[in-house]
Amino acid sequence: MWAKDWREKIWSQIGQPWDVLVIGGGITGAGILREAARAGLRVLLVEQRDFAWGTSSRSSKLVHGGLRYLATGQVGITLTSVRERENLLEDGPGLIDPLGFLMATHRGAKPGRLAYGAGLAVYDLMALQWSHRYYSAEEFRMLVPHIAGEDLQGGFRYEDAQTDDSRLVLRVIQEAAADGGAALNYVAADELLFKDGEVVGARLRDHITGETAEVLAKAVINATGAFADQLRLQVGAEARIRPLRGSHLVFAAWRLPMAQAVTFVHPLDGRPVFAFPWEGVTLVGTTDLDHEAPLTDEPGISPYEVAYLMAAVAQQFPARGLTLDDVVATYAGVRPVIGTGRDDPSKESREHVVWQENGLLTVTGGKLTTFRAVAVDALRMIHERLPDMPSVKTDVPVLNPVNIELPGSLSETVRRRLLGRYGADAPDLVNAAQPGELECIPGTLTLWAELRWAARAEGVVHLDDLLLRRVRLGLILPNGGAALMPRFRQICQPELGWDDRRWDAEEAAYLRLWESCYSLPPRSDIPDWTAMLAAARAAVKPKKRRFTHAFVLLVILAGVVLLARARRRAASNQ
Ligand SMILES: Cc1cc2nc3c(=O)[nH]c(=O)nc-3n(C[C@H](O)[C@H](O)[C@H](O)COP(=O)(O)OP(=O)(O)OC[C@H]3O[C@@H](n4cnc5c(N)ncnc54)[C@H](O)[C@@H]3O)c2cc1C
Repeated sequence: MWAKDWREKIWSQIGQPWDVLVIGGGITGAGILREAARAGLRVLLVEQRDFAWGTSSRSSKLVHGGLRYLATGQVGITLTSVRERENLLEDGPGLIDPLGFLMATHRGAKPGRLAYGAGLAVYDLMALQWSHRYYSAEEFRMLVPHIAGEDLQGGFRYEDAQTDDSRLVLRVIQEAAADGGAALNYVAADELLFKDGEVVGARLRDHITGETAEVLAKAVINATGAFADQLRLQVGAEARIRPLRGSHLVFAAWRLPMAQAVTFVHPLDGRPVFAFPWEGVTLVGTTDLDHEAPLTDEPGISPYEVAYLMAAVAQQFPARGLTLDDVVATYAGVRPVIGTGRDDPSKESREHVVWQENGLLTVTGGKLTTFRAVAVDALRMIHERLPDMPSVKTDVPVLNPVNIELPGSLSETVRRRLLGRYGADAPDLVNAAQPGELECIPGTLTLWAELRWAARAEGVVHLDDLLLRRVRLGLILPNGGAALMPRFRQICQPELGWDDRRWDAEEAAYLRLWESCYSLPPRSDIPDWTAMLAAARAAVKPKKRRFTHAFVLLVILAGVVLLARARRRAASNQ
């Protein structure tokens, strides 16, 4: 798909009648493209910016059932997510890997050990496993040496998983392309086309060449995430999306070392927050606030969110004495949540929705983790428009198995990483490496060879595509990797075929973008989080979440689920 002339090739065939046009190149669109291509449909995906430019490169990167969704009674999404997590762990080693989660319990605090234990029992049972365990305070401190000691009673460990979100999108698109799907970045669907009041296609605009084209398809799918209302308004539907921003701080791992994730309740509002290791750094997130800025502007963390997350780490890991100087980078994403007008954004449901409106199928909400289930749902909904479509298969791996040998003598960690992130392209990546490029870029787990390969063969249009989404150096290196830019240039400029002027302009634009959206806001604007914490301590008791009765209900539900699953298994074994 990403051969040198891939754009021209797809664009030259754009006028053909398509079975499915997918608008939006995040994980939702990528998943639909993948399943449509698997079903043998002629499918085209267009993304107005870069693949995964939207929320799908800005998530917490967890492939999880979502214990917190369970706590708020969103059982359906937890069940589906747990099942999908298990599938992804099996199919995508090196891209989706297990991650232990640690959760402390404190004397006199609510929810307490009993409620957490009940919730985790349900969570495990949903995956038909028993991975959680309780540790005494002494044992727990060995797992998280920096945790606040006050009233520590002990804590649980349970298992979830994590991924590299934009690499997941790319791998799904790559596998769809291998099955005949077509995908273009920097092509926007500006306007929907109608026949007899029904959507039959879209007018597309290539942001690189300025060319436009009218594309007809039997089914048009709106997978534009938080942007979904923009196309829905064109079919006369009412706006329903409540864009909610979630932001993260990225810390140098040596300042906030973590072997596994730690999840805890925020001291200011009782929301669950996480600190976890990812790609050699430590991420802390997330927030959940109404996002008022235009969606077309790249989102960035606000000064209040910085203080909110600093308050969380200050309270949970006081011995580390973390300051703003320890923050390597920040990032923010916008959740496409269906608004019901609740005061507390965190109470809005995270379930996905599929709406059929005058021939436009909108698929939004949901999670990264559940992308395949969402895609299957979407394809089933368009079945009547494509009566010859074979029934959607769900008994196939989500990601193609990659049982290939890699050349040379690579460590098992590197082998897993390359096969997971690059799939069938991994051998070509290794073969393209120049001497010394199979080593890690200092301070990261990324190989120099990944940079060369991405520049050569992964549809990079701008430098931020390369440094923020093909590899994640912009999120993990200080100043977006500015100090290593000469070496990046030496490797990538010839691969990208850019002259010096183009490189200089791209580098300047990337560093400006990094400064405005991936670094800290002006320090003078960031509220004093120690004062925020002191005020919260002085005020009444911290808000208690009403977990307990939900958990009791869920324990009962777990029994029902277990029974149903056991019966289904027994039936399928017969
Ligand atoms: C802070 C945060 C943390 C999260 N953490 C997790 C997590 O740990 N695990 C998890 O499972 N989920 C998580 N999620 C949820 C998950 O990230 C999202 O549900 C998912 O990424 C949404 O994918 P999407 O494809 O629907 O939307 P997006 O990724 O936003 O993709 C939509 C794309 O459509 C494009 N587009 C818009 N309009 C047009 C147009 N007219 N023409 C062409 N293209 C267009 C946009 O540019 C965009 O790239 C998190 C979300 C947030 C915000």
